[in-house]
Amino acid sequence: MRGLVFNIQRFSLHDGPGVRTVVFLKGCPLRCRWCSNPESQVHQPEIMYLERRCLRCGACSAVCSAQAIVSAEDGTRVINREACTLCGRCVEACMPEALRWSGEEKSAEEVAMAIEADEVVYRTSGGGVTFSGGEPLEQAEFVYEIASICRRKGIHTAIETSGYAEQGKIAALIPLIDLWLFDVKHPDNEKHRYYTGVDNEPIIANLRYLSRLGVPVVVRIPFIGGVNADQETVAETIELLRSIGGVREVHLLPYHELGVGKYGQLGRTYRAPGYSVTAEDVDEALEKFRAAGFVARNDGIKPRPRQAD
Ligand code: SF4
Ligand code: SF4
Repeated sequence: MRGLVFNIQRFSLHDGPGVRTVVFLKGCPLRCRWCSNPESQVHQPEIMYLERRCLRCGACSAVCSAQAIVSAEDGTRVINREACTLCGRCVEACMPEALRWSGEEKSAEEVAMAIEADEVVYRTSGGGVTFSGGEPLEQAEFVYEIASICRRKGIHTAIETSGYAEQGKIAALIPLIDLWLFDVKHPDNEKHRYYTGVDNEPIIANLRYLSRLGVPVVVRIPFIGGVNADQETVAETIELLRSIGGVREVHLLPYHELGVGKYGQLGRTYRAPGYSVTAEDVDEALEKFRAAGFVARNDGIKPRPRQAD
């Protein structure tokens, strides 16, 4: 069984308990406007272009028989992604590695070996592996294979999911996943569709399903000013989670623009959907969640200073 992986990150502290290896799988049905890993979205390998490394030597264009990579006026490269056949010759020809692949096919055994390399660290820290993306449920069978190996080795498994998947895929993975880190991005369906490109109804149905079965779930909310961080939306989110029942823990995640440069590298445009929240926004929301009976925490938000009135 082979799958498309775009990164394997060791020693992560933010994707579940303890120290973890995060396996990033490529391909996602959502198009969140704030996505900081745009290279995770497409279900096939892509070529990324890092302009600051480019020597303007033209070696890439010289080997491209599709004439898909051409020089701009200043010597930087422009890839015509419709004409590109993904042959990879330009990547091989580029000595300073200004061109590189995002996404590589790997076998389940190869990925499991990379995970097992840090078994001792997992044991001492209470960590394990986290499947992330993109949307890892898009490659559910691949995750199943790797998680089966991890189960045999006694390695803790977590999955970070948008929850947008067929319920059958979730059902198949329940026995192999110890912790579900489940995103709830917006309680309002119209706004959810506007910000992510998909309806939230199947997501809510899947969260309800996991909760009903008593599966360990942490709900994670990318907490974004102008999107879902206003107190009215917080109250609606709380109401939604209470109606689902079974969810005990809620984490607020940061919004940042660290991935903006990658949009340019992929020939895409970033449209900032919102802004960072203040400490008051975070505190007020956490208080509301706690008052409603949830264990709530800030999972990495560094609030922006409040502007003077
Ligand atoms: S081969 Fe690499 S360094 Fe040379 S022009 Fe192409 S992208 Fe730039
Ligand atoms: S991958 Fe092949 S077709 Fe695409 S730009 Fe590079 S050399 Fe040209």
